Amino acid sequence: MKYDLIIVGAGPAGLTAAIYAARGGLKTAVLEGKAVGGQIALTAEVENYPAVEPISGFDLALKMMEQAQRFGAEIIYDQMTNIEPNGKIKKIKTAAGGELEAPCVILCMGASPRNLGVPGEEKFIGAGVSYCATCDGGFFKGKTVAVAGGGNTAAEDALYLSKIAGKVYLIHRRDKLRATAALADSVKASGIEILWDSVIEEVAGGGKVEALKIKNVKSGEEKNLTVDGLFVAIGQIPNTENVGFLEKDEYGYIITKEDMSTSIEGIFAAGDIRSKSLRQVVTACSDGAVAAESAIKYLS
Ligand code: NAP
Repeated sequence: MKYDLIIVGAGPAGLTAAIYAARGGLKTAVLEGKAVGGQIALTAEVENYPAVEPISGFDLALKMMEQAQRFGAEIIYDQMTNIEPNGKIKKIKTAAGGELEAPCVILCMGASPRNLGVPGEEKFIGAGVSYCATCDGGFFKGKTVAVAGGGNTAAEDALYLSKIAGKVYLIHRRDKLRATAALADSVKASGIEILWDSVIEEVAGGGKVEALKIKNVKSGEEKNLTVDGLFVAIGQIPNTENVGFLEKDEYGYIITKEDMSTSIEGIFAAGDIRSKSLRQVVTACSDGAVAAESAIKYLS
């Protein structure tokens, strides 16, 4: 099938790009291998998207998808397995054996949080387990939360949560934070309780998170920590498989210019997959709009 534009990934960046591109007159396809919405499909409630009353991430994504379809974008539920980036026409192969062609591609495959991989973690996603403090911290006003990790994200998340929650634990597997000295000092001065040399072995609860089973890796001591929420901040993995040919930053995110163009002509990137400072629904949407406008300009 031939299109003007193929968007890979139907999260907020991809769907917004689809709205702008289809409305701008491009024959637009959106390829999505999993569920529409990307990471927000797993977010119980989005309460910081401007002018929208608190809404489930899934419902917000559904509204974006319907809006894109109203403008004529075609959603294709299939996974990109290969892209031929060189030449004027980009060729994409899919898991179901499809072959799509377009002179322009916007990559919006996002990033995936690294999981702890312990019992209970997956079960309580959206019911106390979160991978985004700025997205979900507001639901834990005055409550007790734990942050897992010892890097800059974990330190920033813990500091952010300390202004909202009643009590914050930072659970780190070693005896020294990986976070920069300035952040580490702020954490130590903030009243956040750091559990050193500790790993989470299980997330426990009924309908929602109620406790964490913690083990001290040096002493072997095990204990139950009563918490209302767990923020996992042990790194993210950009979903850049199949696009190894693009220029990336030191963390593996795609480098773009302000117009979302990448190191290869005709290929743009938008949303969490690109190197940027804030990964939120609103910034993903913004990227998507910019990328679509850049694609329209590129094609004309
Ligand atoms: P990161 O620096 O890779 O840190 C991940 C942390 O999680 C480390 O402390 C690591 O422990 C721990 N960890 C990893 N796997 C684990 C597991 N399975 N179980 C328990 N703990 C685990 O990731 P990040 O904090 O998301 O930061 C990513 C990059 O972005 C970093 O280079 C960071 O500097 C940068 N960043 C910068 C800023 C800023 O400048 N303001 C803010 C956020 C992020 P170990 O220490 O033992 O390895």
